[in-house]
Amino acid sequence: KTREWQAMSRDHHLAPFSDYQQLHEKGPRIVTKADGVYLWDSEGNKILDGMAGLWCVAVGYGREELVEAASKQMRELPFYNTFFQTAHPPVLELAKAIADVAPAGMNHVFFTGSGSEGNDTMLRMVRHYWALKGKPNKKVIISRHNGYHGSTVAGASLGGMKYMHEQGDLPIPGIVHIPQPYWFGEGGDMTPEAFGVWAADQLEKKILEVGEENVAAFLAEPIQGAGGVIIPPDSYWPRIREILAKYDILFVADEVICGFGRTGEWFGSDYFGNKPDLMTIAKGLTSGYVPMGGLIVSDKVFKVINEGGDFNHGFTYSGHPVAAAVGLENLRILKDEKVIEQVKAETAPYLQKRLRELADHPLVGEVRGVGMLGAIELAKNKQTRERFPSELGVGMICRGHCFDNGLIMRAVGDTMIIAPPLVISKTEIDELVEKARKCLDLTARAVLV
Ligand code: PLP
Repeated sequence: KTREWQAMSRDHHLAPFSDYQQLHEKGPRIVTKADGVYLWDSEGNKILDGMAGLWCVAVGYGREELVEAASKQMRELPFYNTFFQTAHPPVLELAKAIADVAPAGMNHVFFTGSGSEGNDTMLRMVRHYWALKGKPNKKVIISRHNGYHGSTVAGASLGGMKYMHEQGDLPIPGIVHIPQPYWFGEGGDMTPEAFGVWAADQLEKKILEVGEENVAAFLAEPIQGAGGVIIPPDSYWPRIREILAKYDILFVADEVICGFGRTGEWFGSDYFGNKPDLMTIAKGLTSGYVPMGGLIVSDKVFKVINEGGDFNHGFTYSGHPVAAAVGLENLRILKDEKVIEQVKAETAPYLQKRLRELADHPLVGEVRGVGMLGAIELAKNKQTRERFPSELGVGMICRGHCFDNGLIMRAVGDTMIIAPPLVISKTEIDELVEKARKCLDLTARAVLV
């Protein structure tokens, strides 16, 4: 069947973020089933999913409770909207359950079908907020180079991926970007701490350049995920908080990756001690079993929106009952099984310790990570942080070896990324690290000649 499916792919399927000619030279790997932290492909290969799908399968694959929650809800009420003064129990219960775990003062949830839609919703809501406050010029959103905020027009504009801006004439007006706090790649001769302050100061510089009276919000992921698991130096977030306290602008955390336990806290903002006004969510909210995203809104923002009449925005699938039922059950599992506590106390420290053992590898320039997130920087020179020429495609070579050796790691340029399901065990972590070392060896053999 594999060949048949690959032919269907070639003839009919347009996969996301793909070079179609390249994809069909070999044909996609066909994933057919999953359980726990493992996937199986159509050739019967068992693969450890070091990426939890796309950073989303928090509670692991094959959770019958989620299947039950979905099928029960499908039988009772498979669909009804939340427009026109209607609602249904799962969406209300999920909104409450999210408010219960969200940072203090963040008690209101607008549901969407994805993280991208969450960021679109955010853009419209913050501009609406300022208009209601009599400051309609406050429209500009400042975000960061190499941040990822989705693939809709607003999401891709908010994101700082140059290769995305180049397609479709983006960003749309009113979105500007500042440098990312990526010390390994862009820190030059500065110490990480000095670089963290410098990178944060770029926010103030941009606010002054654009004019405080024109700035609506600053948007950032607590840790940039798709940009390469960019963990800011310790000096970064405290300095950003000082700057935000000086100016009257909103702070938005994109928690699509960091939210629901990935850092060992409920939200990445909790991990860093940040206090956002709005937070975008998706992925871990439903463990990816069904699509769902949203925007968590603080009491401060809600108060203004609440007094402002209609908020003319919404999606057919805003608060979809089946997604909401799955989300509720997923949050129940995270709480009842103390998944996040376990990550924080046991498995994340173990993963981080074991991952750092790879730093002695000749191909590895740096290993960094927080919670169930990790990055392995492949570099030509550990001391100078010199990279390999990009045309060598070292990251892609390594990703290929991983695929062939039963491990999913993602390559962002020459940065290898891991973000396994939160429920990964210590034995499975051992397997992940051992496979990663083997793949680094195979890659080194190909490039260090
Ligand atoms: N924000 C972040 C931080 C993400 O990582 C992603 C997806 O990877 C998105 C937003 C977009 O979410 P979605 O793909 O559900 O639209």
